[in-house]
Amino acid sequence: DKSKILGFITTAGTLNSHTSVLARTKGIPSIIGVGESLKVEYDGKSVIIDGFTGKIYIEPDYTTLTKFRKKRDSNLNYRKNLEKLKGKENVTQSGQRIAVLANVANREDIESVLRSDAGGIGLYRTEFLFMENDTLPTEDQQYLEYKLAAEAMGSKPVSIRTVDMGSDKTIREIDEGKVRNPALGYRGIRLLLNDEDVFYTQIRAILRASIYGNLSILLPMVTSSEEVSRAKEIIEKVKDDLRSSKILFDEDINLGVMIETPAAVMISGELARQVDYFSIGTNDLTALTLGVDRMNPKVEELFDVEHPAIMKMIRIITNNAHLEEKPVAICGDAAADLGLTEYFIKVGIDGLSVEPQKVLSLRKKVREIR
Ligand code: PEP
Ligand code: MG
Repeated sequence: DKSKILGFITTAGTLNSHTSVLARTKGIPSIIGVGESLKVEYDGKSVIIDGFTGKIYIEPDYTTLTKFRKKRDSNLNYRKNLEKLKGKENVTQSGQRIAVLANVANREDIESVLRSDAGGIGLYRTEFLFMENDTLPTEDQQYLEYKLAAEAMGSKPVSIRTVDMGSDKTIREIDEGKVRNPALGYRGIRLLLNDEDVFYTQIRAILRASIYGNLSILLPMVTSSEEVSRAKEIIEKVKDDLRSSKILFDEDINLGVMIETPAAVMISGELARQVDYFSIGTNDLTALTLGVDRMNPKVEELFDVEHPAIMKMIRIITNNAHLEEKPVAICGDAAADLGLTEYFIKVGIDGLSVEPQKVLSLRKKVREIR
């Protein structure tokens, strides 16, 4: 229950691991990967967590406490000021419009998306629905979850990513085997095409929920056109089955792919012909392009999303998408990096999907750009 968590500190992990990504999505201050310096004897003590600088203060004295209360208040004030931007458009000074969307992990996050005034949900990470219990969620459980998102967002788009299990998101019921490099292993679309029941059930749940709003299906970790063709065949089969049972669904539901592997970048021209939109996952794209494990603190310094290779890839993907007149958004954590907004807009990115708490600061940034 996130309402009971003021913040947390972990010994392991990096800023790019999913625990960290989730904490940002939920707006929970956290410090990741402090190693041995987190000692058992700190148990029960008061702690200040400064997520901006990555500093921890144990049993702070009065002066420190006052200083940080002020820092917290000024951050709250800054956020309050941003509220003025609610209802305003995401348009640059020169008139370029860009979609500012939000990332969510489960139903709890939808309220903060509504509060943030985002233009939709650019990435619904469904893994957490699968990780909550010992057994896989049923079709009806999933249907209710997606229906809630669809209804809450109304006509605004909601991009439901089919479950990207594997790597650091493990699910008890799915055996990945003991592997050295899970990030390069049995995960994402590979697992879904191999374990068709999981995929079929999830697609059925999404399609059933699609009549309640503006849902689309997003495929994770794609590396080939064949994977997309195969996924489309299964989606068509689900649609046929629903039609035979006279169950309604959105016949025009859009299909998108995550561009988060170097292979997907290189074949983005072909992929753009197969699907309706792209969503760039800069987290995995950076990890896989630079050969840097998202989970390994020893190489965290090398996890450089601004590396010229990644910047160039974003340009290639956007050009290939636009040649086929397909929109492209970024939903990896780089989307929220205000130092990159201008570059993204310059190359023609159509949308940015960020944690709900960052929506208004991104809107502010977009509106300032000339
Ligand atoms: C990404 O890889 O950038 C992404 C958005 O997916 P995830 O972080 O869930 O792997
Ligand atoms: Mg990813």
